[in-house]
Amino acid sequence: MTDLPVLDHWIGGTLAAGTSDRTGPVYDPALGEVTKHVRYGSADDVDAAVATARAAFAGKSGWGRSSIAKRQTVMFAFRAILHERRDELAALLTSEHGKVLSDAAGEVARGIEVVEFACSMPHVSKGAYSQSVSTDVDLYSIKEPLGVVGIISPFNFPAMVPMWFFPLAIATGNTVVLKPSEKDPSVANWLAAALTEAGLPDGVLNVVHGDKEAVDRLLEHPDVASISFVGSTPIAQHVYETGTRHGKRVQALGGAKNHMLVLPDADLDLAADAAVNAGFGSAGERCMAISVLLAVDPVGDELVAKIQERMTKLVTGDGRKGADMGPLITREHRDKVAGYLEVAAADGASLVVDGRGVEADGAADGFWLGPSLVDHVGITSTVYTDEIFGPVLSIVRVASYAEGLELINSGQFGNGTAIFTNDGGAARRFQQDVEVGMIGINVPIPVPVAYHSFGGWKASLFGDSKAYGPAGMDFFTREKAVTSRWLDPSHGGLNLGFPQNE
Ligand code: NAD
Repeated sequence: MTDLPVLDHWIGGTLAAGTSDRTGPVYDPALGEVTKHVRYGSADDVDAAVATARAAFAGKSGWGRSSIAKRQTVMFAFRAILHERRDELAALLTSEHGKVLSDAAGEVARGIEVVEFACSMPHVSKGAYSQSVSTDVDLYSIKEPLGVVGIISPFNFPAMVPMWFFPLAIATGNTVVLKPSEKDPSVANWLAAALTEAGLPDGVLNVVHGDKEAVDRLLEHPDVASISFVGSTPIAQHVYETGTRHGKRVQALGGAKNHMLVLPDADLDLAADAAVNAGFGSAGERCMAISVLLAVDPVGDELVAKIQERMTKLVTGDGRKGADMGPLITREHRDKVAGYLEVAAADGASLVVDGRGVEADGAADGFWLGPSLVDHVGITSTVYTDEIFGPVLSIVRVASYAEGLELINSGQFGNGTAIFTNDGGAARRFQQDVEVGMIGINVPIPVPVAYHSFGGWKASLFGDSKAYGPAGMDFFTREKAVTSRWLDPSHGGLNLGFPQNE
């Protein structure tokens, strides 16, 4: 550890070592090597960051009272920096996450979309005004920031997920404490430094690294007004319950098990391409990955053959060397995902492609697992019921649309789903029948654009508010309704009755 750099927190516009001696390793997953360590913040470190954010928010000259023009200037400058240096950011992301460079660039691009939406905040966050709601009385509603907001993000999108939240939080006048994933923490510091360069005052965005200790203090801290969380379902539930118990507004996005339903009339080449792209992109470590394909009879055999044929062309390897798919995030996760292939075989499924023997184009110690295809998966197997979060695509054969729909709707998650068909009526029926928050029709990864909102149903989202878009703006603001009367000489008289509009 002594020879390796240690990544500090970012508090008050500068790096801060904090008070804790605890650290954790950060790997380059394609090398299988520890490249640095990251500090694990203590409750005191969180308190220091919250106090800094609170001071940056408060007062006449605080960010909470900053002009819309000032906030917009910072957001536009931040956007320009992201555009200029997106390759540098993507390379940093790949070095700690492992996803291939083109995928990292795509992640940055989707984050920039949200920054662009935040640039439109002056228009989007306008309140409403009604003149003469009663005689000589006007009413207007205004949106004010919450104060200090907390953001807790997962490993799988170290740039995009924080950018789902902090651009909107900042553009609406809040100050932020971000706790990124300890597995790939450097991107958060990069983004914070870029915002400082863009003119953001010190203390408006703070980053505290760490694990459960830092998260739990954020959830309990009396000066934190809201929590935006993305991660696995058990932690999302813990965050939602603890945060709301402490009086906070909470949006906690959880895990997923996304099904793709392929009807017999679908274009099977399109469906096979989509299944491969959405099943194995980012090594399946996406909450919108397709992990189950429901093949409606009789297309199963033909579809599996088409998918298998496409998989032979995929190169697994170091994301900096032009591979299609990179490593998994840690050795433990790689082994856990590979374990599901054993379970699949034991549960009677057929291993059409077994990624365990993959010859990766990368270092021998990288956390490799090749794309894997499992057919005839039974619905009681944990291969079907668990979120595997790796490059394992399960095929479940179903007899009808109704059987497929029933499976999707009986699952615990409701993040994303897709239907592949050329029948517009069937697609429309699916859109109405399915109990899932984001639906693709011949689109495998239906992540909404930044000016709509992102979020699933059921165990994929705890709380009432989706992320970004109009829902994000609402989440980071609270409304005041002002009823005003400027006195007219003809006013007057006592009236103890409840106000009625005349
Ligand atoms: P995770 O739940 O392990 O970690 C998420 C965050 O919570 C991290 O910052 C982590 O440090 C913190 N954390 C972990 N354990 C904790 C504990 N016991 N108490 C308090 N905080 C804790 O998730 P991950 O492995 O980083 O990310 C993958 C998961 O995130 C998958 O389940 C995936 O589906 C989900 N995800 C969901 C979405 C969505 O939009 N619904 C998007 C991306 C990822």
